[in-house]
Amino acid sequence: MYTLICRSCNRPCDDIAATACPHDGGILKVVYETPEIPVDPALPGIWRYAACLPLDHHSNIVSLGEGGTPLLSSAHLGAAQGLEDLHFKNEALNPTGSYKDRIATVSMSQLVEQGLEIWVTTSSGNAGASTAAYGVRAGVDGYLFTLERAPRAKIAQIIAYGPTLRSVRGLGYEPAVEDATWANCLELCRSRGWMMMVTACSFSPLGMEGAKTIAFEICESLGGEAPDVVYVPVGGGGLLTMIWKGFQEWRDAGYISSLPRMVSVQALGCDAVTQSWNAGRRTLQGVDDCASMVSGIILTNPPDGDLVLEALRESDGWATSVGDDDTYLAQAELANQEGLFVEPAAAITWGAIKADRQSGKLNGDEKVVAVLTGIGFKDSAAVQRMTDHVDLPLIEARGILTVDQ
Ligand SMILES: [Zn+2]
Repeated sequence: MYTLICRSCNRPCDDIAATACPHDGGILKVVYETPEIPVDPALPGIWRYAACLPLDHHSNIVSLGEGGTPLLSSAHLGAAQGLEDLHFKNEALNPTGSYKDRIATVSMSQLVEQGLEIWVTTSSGNAGASTAAYGVRAGVDGYLFTLERAPRAKIAQIIAYGPTLRSVRGLGYEPAVEDATWANCLELCRSRGWMMMVTACSFSPLGMEGAKTIAFEICESLGGEAPDVVYVPVGGGGLLTMIWKGFQEWRDAGYISSLPRMVSVQALGCDAVTQSWNAGRRTLQGVDDCASMVSGIILTNPPDGDLVLEALRESDGWATSVGDDDTYLAQAELANQEGLFVEPAAAITWGAIKADRQSGKLNGDEKVVAVLTGIGFKDSAAVQRMTDHVDLPLIEARGILTVDQ
């Protein structure tokens, strides 16, 4: 049993299809009747935690087997930076290659439960691929509005699933277009009776609940302990917000006794959260333009930015920004020293950990987790950048015998 309450005025919201508080427009949050979280391994994907996910009937579950991703202890990189206890949560192993599948499974199951037939979302790529894939699984159609400069590989994956796709001029680098896009998607859904599936707490409070299961799994993988510090890439901010909620719920369920410090990681040149945090602001101030190319996390005005700032305050965390070149270097290091092929928007967490280690923010003895959000294939331009300089010599078959000489 779950209910929606407003994060601002604390009043309950009876309309489960609401995207914001009807009284003051505040962001809604899902609360559950009991703090207990019995785990049911018989249910698919993240639905093993169905007791604290918003759905009334298991028969409405739309799953592709998301979640259950590995938490890997660092093989080489951590030791090289004097980090004794570094782990990577590899979300690239989800069905469409990113953590967004955890959200899509909840959103699409809700769509089925509410008897709706069309979904609408905006996406720079990963959420779009997830939503489209889960829409196929549920047998429903959808409309997807993407950035003007979204990477072609991400778009190709979306096209493969077959939704109606439109690229919006200026979306991704003009704040006014971001606002207009979200307002118009809301209006479209309101007037047609369709479901808004933008992956932000400020638009999809129910669906976003899926992302918190990352926290549950991290604690389970660590043998019932919470990490000390968790690094999360911040684009819209919903992921960090929900992982923080997950740790709190896992603690309230009695599974862990401490909570981690949360670290927001953004791309230098498009880092509204870092700038607002460093300025001591309680509410987010967006940035005017975007000077980063790290697809997936470059939003000038993150819709859940206030919630990220709140999570950083509550968890005694902080915010770190990483330049694009350091992010691409981090991506290469994860691949060639850890065997982890992730996209730049994921690798940026490793870039931030290195920066924080070098600045002394990390002592080295903390139990640190980096959330690697998506797989390397997602950003083909970045893969090209990483590999273009490498020659591929052509040899005769007999040359195989002397390859080591
Ligand atoms: Zn309210």
